[in-house]
Amino acid sequence: MSDKSLEEIIMHGAIRLDSPQFGVMDPLSEETEPQAYYDAIKKRFAEEREVRLNYRPEGAAQYDTELQGELEKYDDDPYGGEIIERDPLTDTVECLFIGGGFSALLTSARLREIGVDSIRIVERGADVGGTWYWNRYPGIACDVPSYDYLPLLDEMDYVPKHRYARGEEIYQHCQAIAKKYDLYKLAVFQTTVTATVWNKEEQLWHISTNRGDHMKARFVICANGILSKPKLTKIKRMTSFKGHSFHTSRWDYDYTGDDLSKLKDKRVGIIGTGATAVQAVPGLGANAKQLFVFQRTPSSIDVRDDWETDTQWAKSLPADWQSQRREISLRPPQLSAEGLEKIKAMPRDEKLRRQENANMDAMMRIHKRIEEIVSDKDTAEALKPWYMMMCKRPCFHEDYLPTFNLPNVNLIDTKGKGVTEITEKGVIVDGKEYELDLLIFATGFEIQKTGIYNEIIGENGVELNDKYSDAPCWAFTPRVIPTSLL
Ligand SMILES: Cc1cc2nc3c(=O)[nH]c(=O)nc-3n(C[C@H](O)[C@H](O)[C@H](O)COP(=O)(O)OP(=O)(O)OC[C@H]3O[C@@H](n4cnc5c(N)ncnc54)[C@H](O)[C@@H]3O)c2cc1C
Repeated sequence: MSDKSLEEIIMHGAIRLDSPQFGVMDPLSEETEPQAYYDAIKKRFAEEREVRLNYRPEGAAQYDTELQGELEKYDDDPYGGEIIERDPLTDTVECLFIGGGFSALLTSARLREIGVDSIRIVERGADVGGTWYWNRYPGIACDVPSYDYLPLLDEMDYVPKHRYARGEEIYQHCQAIAKKYDLYKLAVFQTTVTATVWNKEEQLWHISTNRGDHMKARFVICANGILSKPKLTKIKRMTSFKGHSFHTSRWDYDYTGDDLSKLKDKRVGIIGTGATAVQAVPGLGANAKQLFVFQRTPSSIDVRDDWETDTQWAKSLPADWQSQRREISLRPPQLSAEGLEKIKAMPRDEKLRRQENANMDAMMRIHKRIEEIVSDKDTAEALKPWYMMMCKRPCFHEDYLPTFNLPNVNLIDTKGKGVTEITEKGVIVDGKEYELDLLIFATGFEIQKTGIYNEIIGENGVELNDKYSDAPCWAFTPRVIPTSLL
């Protein structure tokens, strides 16, 4: 590293805007094929999209997110242990956070730094961490370089152990932040905020919870995350399965064993092939007697390029390396004057056409990678994603595709349809029953809704979900919610 500039050293392992993942948007990239080639791919993209839209005209209503009755067990906390009894809280604080993940930890730490102490963190789980408390499935790691993703690395004087930190390390980092900034004494766990109501006379929010609390706060910060409420796909006879089952964000290590060794005589099925499944499948494939991966739409799987952090590099970093890294990352991409002129002169339609073609080149590179890695031709074909890059969250993994070469691993491609029925013994696809001991739902989380588990009522008694019911989905993102409450 010694012959590198300080900036190069600091930026080691960053994903740059000109890397292949982002380069797909570059209208100046060279076209490699005639337009007819791209038109044929686009036609296939449209056909595949149509197939899926026809199967699920109900859109987001295809999912169950309330998880009540027999589905309630999929939302239970397997990590929290006994509920710790405490008296209900009725006090008033300056800032109340709903949720105890990155957002709450980082913001409370900053508030502490400027001397705000009247803070309360209210969290459903039994500890801080949010996403990294709930998600402990085998293989879990961040997908953004950890040197950028983990908060407060300068302040914590910490350099993650890998380019992509493992889930457990991220969870421990959250706990370390809470300890350093003395946040545990400000937090209540195993507590769900159920209603947040604005009181105009008092100019305070009234906050109720499932533990009988009636707290008040001048500022409420919704730090409830956008991926914290597990969702299940509604499948016929959903609750009929007599084997064991759980959602990936509630992993049952008692059943699987910490090292998954208890799966060696088990037939395991996993529904879903999104980002979580991509990380969990290699471990399952290596340990289960048989693994069935039920696929509706494949993810795009690119090179991950993970590595163990070089200790010499870590030692060479200046104390404020992460904030310097952030500042450098925020600089606009460097384009030559000639490149800028070309883009400016390019008509909008031409720019879009070139960007789409560059995107398709990236997707065809992903297809080629599958062909090179997966030996069975039919399986390789079924694993090819037919949509534009970024239509589905892009994934990166070295072990996911090779897992399908193992003799005990079967890809059950439903060609966009999905699993149609669950039985006492397993699941049905295309009329065929797959018998299972364990069924894992890797079906993700509720998105595009406000106030997770919580009813937020503002001025004039208007509920936030009603307020935004006609708004485009961007209005539901947390970027908007906190500011509307502050
Ligand atoms: C498996 C997985 C991997 C991810 N990897 C990455 C990655 O690599 N890079 C990236 O940028 N992002 C990633 N994300 C997104 C991740 O959610 C965010 O990066 C970040 O951790 C969100 O932090 P948060 O504090 O906003 O929300 P969360 O971490 O989701 O925390 C919200 C907390 O609020 C609690 N809560 C919700 N409602 C209530 C209520 N009513 N009362 C009390 N508590 C409540 C929840 O229990 C939860 O603990 C990943 C997400 C998942 C699920």
